[in-house]
Formats: sequence, structure tokens, C-alpha cells
Amino acid sequence: METFTTKNALEAHLSAFRSAGKTIGFVPTMGALHEGHLALIERAKSTTSISVCSIFVNPTQFNDPADLEKYPRPIEKDIALLEAAGCDVLFLPTVGEMYPSDEEAWSFDLGQLDKIWEGAKRPGHYQGVTQIVNKLFHIVKPNIAFFGQKDFQQCMVIQLMVDKLALPVRLEIVDTIRDADGLAKSSRNVRLSPRARTQALALSKALFMVKQAVEQGESPQQAKEEALRFLQQAKGVELEYFAVCNPRDLTEIGPEQQNIRPLVVILAAWVGGVRLIDNILL
Ligand code: AMP
Repeated sequence: METFTTKNALEAHLSAFRSAGKTIGFVPTMGALHEGHLALIERAKSTTSISVCSIFVNPTQFNDPADLEKYPRPIEKDIALLEAAGCDVLFLPTVGEMYPSDEEAWSFDLGQLDKIWEGAKRPGHYQGVTQIVNKLFHIVKPNIAFFGQKDFQQCMVIQLMVDKLALPVRLEIVDTIRDADGLAKSSRNVRLSPRARTQALALSKALFMVKQAVEQGESPQQAKEEALRFLQQAKGVELEYFAVCNPRDLTEIGPEQQNIRPLVVILAAWVGGVRLIDNILL
């Protein structure tokens, strides 16, 4: 694996491959890599000629300075995992490299997506996400970029940006990778105490409850209400939102829309001082 810390060196390296007709697959991450990230790398490797992973803890997408400070940064371990996964290129820039001092203000109209669910709970988060992903897309110029369904609303935000700016990149969404007991893998899971980790299992359990009940013929609304009661009684879980939505625009479905498929059930909750999100498709 070749590692680059500057935009210019990475661009020079990749343009040689591009001229040779090779396709570039890109996986942007914030590091603290786990099997979820590695599934994206694997998909990039099997789909494109060259896999590029970036690790950059992007300060502009953190609305909470304490969260930014506490974000895990095990870079040596990350490099070893990428090497073992057979990743071709790592981009590891500094904050100064990505945000020079003459940086222009960024404001991107995401419509409702910036105002609901994660957009509402984390003001400015998707402005930071689009700002950094747009920068990275212009540097890497990937043919395909790979994102995880785990961050469902983020996938929608990036797709909207790609469409609005007519960026020449295709997005591929990879299924959520979970621990054997159901917990969605997340870089933030390392901050869960053993007790909180057990309590956090209620989140995926609630999502699976909804899916199973709907498969057995219950209406999504009824299934959600049962799972909501379960979550409200779950010890240590402080729910932020839990909703059954139309995956096209993330609006919550009403009583007259129970037959729409697919649907997505989304949730965010605090467990043991850690904010977790998860979702499932129905
Ligand atoms: P992050 O490092 O958290 O910014 O995530 C980088 C990419 O990995 C994003 O596209 C995430 O959606 C994806 N990702 C994170 N967790 C998972 C998971 N459990 N399964 C699949 N993809 C994931």
C-alpha cells in the first residue's frame, strides 16, 4: 500500500493510473477502522482496478467539540488493517492540507435532508460532510465511491450533492456489517463500557423486531409502536428518534402509507454517553 499525505502527490500518482485506463474505487473514512470499513474496501477491490482509502477525522462535521476530541485515532492499527485487506492507496492528509487558511466558506443546499433526523440533531454536520467529500472527490476523482448503509441519511446527502453538482462519480452503498449479536459496527463502539455495550443491543433488537413483525403481517406503524415501547423500557437507552420512513426522502410514513415498500426504519440513541445510529430496510 502506498501512503500519501499531500493532495498533489496523490493526484500525480492517480493520474498515471487513470491515463492507463484503470478505474478508481474510493472509500472515505475517519479511521478507527472495523469490518464495516473493510467491507467497503473489499467491495472497491472487487469492483475497480485501484482501491483508495482516505483516513481524515474531519473537524467541520463535528457539531460537538468533545466528540471530535474523543474520536478514536488508532492510526498504526488502521494502516495494518488496510495492508492486510490489500488496499492499494491510503490518503492520510493533515487538517492544514485539507483546510488551507484561505478556505472559502461552504454552504450547500440540502433541502429537507439538512433539517430532519441527523440534520436536525447535528446542526452543520452534513455541511461538513459535503464539504469534505466534495474536496476528496475532486482530489481522488473516483469512478465509484463506496459508502455504508449504516449512515443511511449520509448516503442520501452525498447522492444529492453528486446529482446537484453533476459530479462524475457513481455511488455504491454497502450493507451494514454487524457484530454477531446484532450491534452495528461503529468506530464509536470502542467507547462503550461492557455494560453500555450490552444495553446498546436494544437498538438493533428493536429494528429486527419491526422487520420480523412486518414480515409476519403487522403494519409498519403497529410494529414500530411495539418496538418503541421496548426501547422506552430498555435500561440505559436514551432515544433521540425512531421512525419508519420512505427511503426516497426520509419523511415519516403516515397511516395511509403503510403499504409502501421499501421502507427504512431509522434510529438514534445515547447509550453510556455514546451516540449511536442504526437503520434497517423493510
Ligand atoms: P466513518 O469512518 O464512520 O466516517 O465511516 C466511513 C464509511 O464506512 C461510511 O461510508 C460509513 O457508512 C461506513 N460504515 C461505517 N460503519 C459501517 C458498518 N457497520 N457497515 C458498513 N459500513 C459502515
